[in-house]
Amino acid sequence: MSVAVRFAPSPTGLLHVGNLRLALVNWLFARNAGGSFLLRLDDTDEERSRPEYAEAIERDLAWMGLTWDRFARESDRYGRYDEAAAMLRAAGRLYPCYETAEELGLRRASQVSQGRPPLYDRAALRLTDADRARLEVEGRRPHWRFLLEHRPVEWDDLVRGHQRFAGADLSDPVLIREDGRPLYTLTSVVDDADFAISHVIRGEDHVANTAVQIQIWQALGADVPGFAHLPLLTDAGGQGLSKRLGSLSIGSLRDDDGVEPMALASLLAKLGTSDAIEPRATLDALVAEFDMGKVSRATPKFDPEDLKRLNAKLLHLTPFDAVRGRLEAMGLAGVDAGFWEAVRPNLARLSEVADWWAVTHAPVAPVVEDAGFLAEAAGLLPDEPWDAGTWGAWTAAVKARTGRKGKELFLPLRKALTGLEHGPELKLLLPLIGRARALKRLAGETA
Ligand code: GLU
Repeated sequence: MSVAVRFAPSPTGLLHVGNLRLALVNWLFARNAGGSFLLRLDDTDEERSRPEYAEAIERDLAWMGLTWDRFARESDRYGRYDEAAAMLRAAGRLYPCYETAEELGLRRASQVSQGRPPLYDRAALRLTDADRARLEVEGRRPHWRFLLEHRPVEWDDLVRGHQRFAGADLSDPVLIREDGRPLYTLTSVVDDADFAISHVIRGEDHVANTAVQIQIWQALGADVPGFAHLPLLTDAGGQGLSKRLGSLSIGSLRDDDGVEPMALASLLAKLGTSDAIEPRATLDALVAEFDMGKVSRATPKFDPEDLKRLNAKLLHLTPFDAVRGRLEAMGLAGVDAGFWEAVRPNLARLSEVADWWAVTHAPVAPVVEDAGFLAEAAGLLPDEPWDAGTWGAWTAAVKARTGRKGKELFLPLRKALTGLEHGPELKLLLPLIGRARALKRLAGETA
């Protein structure tokens, strides 16, 4: 069986870093094995699914470069779910139940109060045809449960190792709602079977679903795929991430925080694995390093500070050619390789290039603390043409004349020339600022 995986988000909210990590792990697994990646939108919850969330999911995946070979939408496939339900019914594995949510809740509460597990008691199996007819006359519509076989379900999980569930410990799952709509537990299996998914890679919140779903695969006569259940990411404080949590949404990291896709990919590919977290310039590099065997069972924490550091580190390593197009799109066509290399070590995010461009090419309000010293320094400014040696020659002359050195010498010059206390090396900035501007700024004029 060739490797085929899927990422199956429900378009009921924005993707957060935990969701995207699962997409990435699926994608890396597929690419590493020469297999295919399916994007499947689990949109059968029609009240909560929204086209704008589906669009955002596609945009977020594309931003990271997680291209999909196949695409499917569950809402296009109701016919297939009906067929599968008919097959299960014919095999005696799907049975109608009439309990209301309230009745089920009361029954569960009484089981729990007696110290018993809250399993569905299969009362509906004992209904006679006459009982059912009476309930339907009362206006009740059935929901449908899958009849689990009470035998152990086992699989070798690529992350969790050998897993075993006693069938008798599981409740018969509802597969079809009262209004006739199929539920995820069924639709996901039908899709995975139809798309010949070889490995289901998802969060460990689905482990119990897997036990149930394995029996559904078998009842449908389909091949049971392999499984990997990853521990879910938490935030830095150990709290679970919710899909409606905006701040760690991919859109906000990208648009508000200036996160580079490869910084996030480098972090998410390695979080919770035995590999060190280092910036990688391409997804191909992550593909080559990917191994599900490195994924740990321990809960990984996502700390935005780690991402910030990695983002900066990645930018500091990025060659000019890799950003040229994006700089042009930002209206910074004038930036050349020399300028990029001058400012790159100071960047926390790419948009800051524009700030440094403004320091060298637009009026700056200088910060003047010692006008006398600055006037003396201005008098020693060499004639143009200037190059990377100009700063050294000039400051040597200023030092000789004033006796100042170190911070006392450099900081007032930096604050006057750039209006800032920190920044790229002045030997690189000074020639870009130019003599005319430098003289004005040293004299305290905005220039
Ligand atoms: N739509 C499901 C979810 O978002 C998919 C789970 C799965 O991968 O099977 O949880």
